[in-house]
Amino acid sequence: GGAAEPPPKLVLDLERLANVPSDKAGPLQRYTATIQSQRGDYNGKVLSIRQDDLRTLAVIYDQSPSVLTEQLISWGVLGADARRAVQVEEG
Ligand code: C2E
Ligand code: C2E
Ligand code: C2E
Repeated sequence: GGAAEPPPKLVLDLERLANVPSDKAGPLQRYTATIQSQRGDYNGKVLSIRQDDLRTLAVIYDQSPSVLTEQLISWGVLGADARRAVQVEEG
């Protein structure tokens, strides 16, 4: 690292998320629904979340942030550039 560049934003694709079976995505679906409710942000196709929220979600999923990020990328919920956000966090 060392660059002054800010980390990429974590932007969740809510339409993709809605299509992931809830036995896997249920906790994330509830978490994003809570954030939408707290913000009053109901009509978006995407939702920008905090870097801290990824750490919280990793605890919920009992995985490291980087493993959870790979899972979300494989679901199509996060873009591949989200990897760089985790490298910034863990590196
Ligand atoms: P809060 O954390 O006390 O934030 C109060 C308000 O500050 C937010 O109202 C928003 O207008 C602004 N704000 C705080 N952090 C940011 C930020 O990183 N970016 C932007 N653009 N604005 C920011 P809002 O959106 O109505 O949210 C109300 C409360 O809902 C927040 O109070 C917080 O407790 C919760 N919340 C909303 N979105 C998130 C989220 O993505 N993650 C978490 N953990 N909590 C959230
Ligand atoms: P951006 O961050 O690249 O977001 C592009 C578009 O994605 C937004 O267009 C919006 O349609 C959608 N989007 C991204 N995050 C969210 C989200 O959490 N909820 C919802 N409902 N939609 C989301 P929009 O709203 O016209 O914003 C255009 C640009 O204006 C944004 O580009 C960003 O550069 C800036 N902007 C808008 N709101 C905020 C904000 O709360 N904080 C900051 N820092 N910039 C903002
Ligand atoms: P953003 O609005 O472009 O904010 C980028 C970063 O600036 C945030 O990254 C956070 O580190 C800092 N920041 C912006 N506003 C505040 C603030 O009011 N208080 C504090 N303590 N820090 C602030 P972060 O936390 O990773 O959030 C990423 C994006 O998630 C934000 O981009 C915004 O699009 C969304 N977001 C996060 N929290 C909230 C919130 O409470 N309300 C809304 N509407 N959007 C939020």
